Amino acid sequence: MTRHLLDLMLVVLLLFAAWTTAAASIGAVVHPVYPPGISAADAKAIEPRLARYLAMSDAELRALVPKQTGLSYCGCPNCQGGTAENNMVWSPEDPDHVHCKSCGKVYPSPDYPMTHEIHVKSPSGEDHVYRYYEDAKGQQYFFEARIWYDRIHYYDEIALQLAKVYAATHDERYAQATAALVDQYARVVPGYVPSTSTPTSPSSSSAQT
Ligand SMILES: [Zn+2]
Repeated sequence: MTRHLLDLMLVVLLLFAAWTTAAASIGAVVHPVYPPGISAADAKAIEPRLARYLAMSDAELRALVPKQTGLSYCGCPNCQGGTAENNMVWSPEDPDHVHCKSCGKVYPSPDYPMTHEIHVKSPSGEDHVYRYYEDAKGQQYFFEARIWYDRIHYYDEIALQLAKVYAATHDERYAQATAALVDQYARVVPGYVPSTSTPTSPSSSSAQT
């Protein structure tokens, strides 16, 4: 047997040994691959915050996730206060509204009707409609899209918290609620229209400088 042949056999044996070691380690993967990162005590602490989602039906959970993408900036036509159209506050306690943290006005409001609308073709080919109020100066106020923005970012965090509690407790109610939210996000996000996050008017502070 030549020296070259012996070297070749040694290389093949080493490769085989490496492959079997790798295969054995793959078989030994411990699930969950990505640990939830919370203890049973942590899960217990956040369960009260999640209780309302366990009480919802599959359809109610899915309805929390907006079907259109949101806009992060929206001014307040009632006071023109604050900075850079960044004064609207949303809360899961009142998920269909926002209010201005300067004057407290709640939107949408019949005082500022969203009688205008923009139609945008979504990446999935659907007609997405963005309704807005327009004041005498032509300033546009997308109250609905502002609400959607916070809802999109809030309920994806809720889905993560539900999943973590399931991983810590193995309570299937959390898995079912997680599945409803995650599946709904998977259905609608591909259709979200790309948008920018830029205020349309300067902040009151920058306007003075
Ligand atoms: Zn205001």
